[in-house]
Amino acid sequence: MSPARMHDQRPNTPRSEEEQERLSNDMYYQRRITTSIFCGNCGYNLKTLPVIHACPECGNEYNSRPLKMHGVFLPHTVEFPFGDIVVSALSVFFTTLIAIRAFSPVNPDIVLIALGFLALTTYLVIRLFGRLSLYIKGVRVARHIDEYED
Ligand SMILES: [Zn+2]
Repeated sequence: MSPARMHDQRPNTPRSEEEQERLSNDMYYQRRITTSIFCGNCGYNLKTLPVIHACPECGNEYNSRPLKMHGVFLPHTVEFPFGDIVVSALSVFFTTLIAIRAFSPVNPDIVLIALGFLALTTYLVIRLFGRLSLYIKGVRVARHIDEYED
């Protein structure tokens, strides 16, 4: 059962954002997708399936309601994160330079600055790996879409 449907069993809750979300979803449960929209997990063509449903190929729950588009393939995820790679590489480079000055030998004046750069670089590299894994998944899904395209 989708999370949105579970809300149906709840007694009268105040008209919250969640409630509006539920009402918006209700209008779409009976409707079907009329254009080629692809599963965000496997790339299966969801055309003619209900607007809110689960992918028949892989079971991925999706909501292709206009302005919602959750769990469906979004073409912009297949852009290679060049910018993130450049920014991360620069950050690693400057952090290394500053770390060398700060720690060998220890220079108390810039140790804090070096640690700040280290924290920033760690954040940027973790974010880069997140973007890369999204990109890799997007490319894989896009390859499947070509198989399912009508
Ligand atoms: Zn799927």
